[in-house]
Amino acid sequence: MRRTLKYPNLQKTDPEIAAFNRLEEERQFWYADFIASENYASPAVREASASVNTNKYSEGYPGARYYKGSDIAIDPVEILAQKRALALFALDEDTWGANVQPASGSEANFAVYGALLKQKNHPENEDVALGMRLDFGGHLTHGFHVSFSGKFFHFEQYGLDENEIIDYDQVEKLAETWKPKLIVCGASAYSRIIDFERFGGIAKKHGALLMADIAHIAGLIAGGVHPSPFPHCDIVTTTTHKTLRGPRGAIIFARKDILLVPPNSKDNKAKSLFQLINQAVFPGLQGGPHNQQTEAIAVCLKEASTPEFRAYVKCIVKNSQALAQSLQKYGFRIISAGTDNHLMLLDLRAFDVTGEDASEWLYRAGIVTNKNAIPNDPRPPRLASGIRLGTPAATTRGMGTREMKQFARWIYEIMQDHSEQNLQKIKGQVRALCQKFPPPGFN
Ligand SMILES: *Cc1c(COP(=O)(O)O)cnc(C)c1O
Repeated sequence: MRRTLKYPNLQKTDPEIAAFNRLEEERQFWYADFIASENYASPAVREASASVNTNKYSEGYPGARYYKGSDIAIDPVEILAQKRALALFALDEDTWGANVQPASGSEANFAVYGALLKQKNHPENEDVALGMRLDFGGHLTHGFHVSFSGKFFHFEQYGLDENEIIDYDQVEKLAETWKPKLIVCGASAYSRIIDFERFGGIAKKHGALLMADIAHIAGLIAGGVHPSPFPHCDIVTTTTHKTLRGPRGAIIFARKDILLVPPNSKDNKAKSLFQLINQAVFPGLQGGPHNQQTEAIAVCLKEASTPEFRAYVKCIVKNSQALAQSLQKYGFRIISAGTDNHLMLLDLRAFDVTGEDASEWLYRAGIVTNKNAIPNDPRPPRLASGIRLGTPAATTRGMGTREMKQFARWIYEIMQDHSEQNLQKIKGQVRALCQKFPPPGFN
């Protein structure tokens, strides 16, 4: 048996919680994680996110805080995080700014909407935004009616064409009809390259601002295996905990050279897009920044700028394509017929299995995934007809294309026979494989 990490202080104060930590650590070690939005942060990132910086209040921004005591470490660390964020995506500090304070991807998106859009039923006419439909691969915060994004703001939604590729013609038509203030591109369950240039052209033609939400693919862009949105966008939001392999958190990039009068402005004074975003994050949406997370973001950005990280993201895509091709050989239909990135969406209808059942059986066999709606899904989201698979976490463990082919086989075998006996047999094999590929810092 392996030795688990120790939590000596926690063990003393709260053994009940310490026990859960050990159990979770075991789970993360012995199960194979194919959830596309998850990853294993490095021990350095985890150390940073547990640092003494959690003790500090620092509302405001470097050099302009409401609390004394930020000069020693809090300001320099936040400035480092900003600089590293800009450098990672080769951005010029005069043209772009980076806000590293949003607690999560959803907050980052809300800050952008709050900064730019007049709400629904606004007396001076609401603004319209375009976003991708959730059930076609978009995110909740891109205007889904249950999310505050769709409740408070007028979003029109675009989807996929008959080849299950983003329907750029529909985006164009919606832009023509609605004259949106903002077009949001980016997705949570889309396996193809996003044509940011095409989006940029549409936005320019119709006078809209363009925001790319690269929460899922930020690491791939940083590592050079997906085209960059920055030449075509005004705003880019990202999480830091998915392919970027950092702590939970988010970054908003915004241009400094675009001047705008904010919605609900009293004096009609124009400000730079970046200024508007900063004000929307604080004091608009959040109070004190999570300084220990800012610190961990700085660390993950340093890690992401290394040749090792570039090699890592290349492997993610290689693994993803190997897994997709193997699954296709076993008769699974992949949405859009393949993948260019770290994830894929499986259509399980040929096996007459719901996403709910498939993800449960896989979990009992040690493979962790999530059920996912497929385009035009006949089943309700609670059941769904698909599962989403991603390779970032398995690739962090050092697994390669050989292992991906093995997982494709196991997934196929589980769809054929989900008897408890077969699930247990495969679980034993998955555990044996996981033991050979410990996540970083788990030895
Ligand atoms: C994950 C994700 C987010 C939100 O991230 P949270 O940190 O979970 O709030 C936003 N947009 C997209 C496209 C995502 O995939």
